[in-house]
Amino acid sequence: MSKWHEPSDDCLICRGSQEIVIGVRERGPYEQLHDYTRVLFCAACDVGELRTFSYDGFVVFGEEDDVMVWSSVLSASDVSRLRSDFACPSPLNHECECAQHIRAYDTSVKANKTRLPEHGPGRHSPAGRTTVTVTVTDGLAEFC
Ligand SMILES: [Zn+2]
Ligand SMILES: [Zn+2]
Repeated sequence: MSKWHEPSDDCLICRGSQEIVIGVRERGPYEQLHDYTRVLFCAACDVGELRTFSYDGFVVFGEEDDVMVWSSVLSASDVSRLRSDFACPSPLNHECECAQHIRAYDTSVKANKTRLPEHGPGRHSPAGRTTVTVTVTDGLAEFC
């Protein structure tokens, strides 16, 4: 039986698997904690997204959800901009703490993402998501 808090990077629109374009940051997976922020791209839908997954096994039952997922649409052109302008030679390295990775993480936290429903028939519905764009400031790609 797979753990229900297992993360998925599947496309919210077509449910197909997605390419990880940027591994912004990740902690874990540990027994009680796993979170990450990634840029994902679906070639079939030609659309990207900024996705944050968070599992916190220490939350008190009933007070807060232990799994939370946020997503925001990134246009294909913004994903292309990240591929060309992300100023780190290891874009998939979630553990990298270079200036580019830190800038991407800091701006991803502030970016206007949509929290996806974790339960019910609308689970992980792509409806009504916000859109985030990519700009390059002082040579570093950032989300806004
Ligand atoms: Zn798709
Ligand atoms: Zn880096």
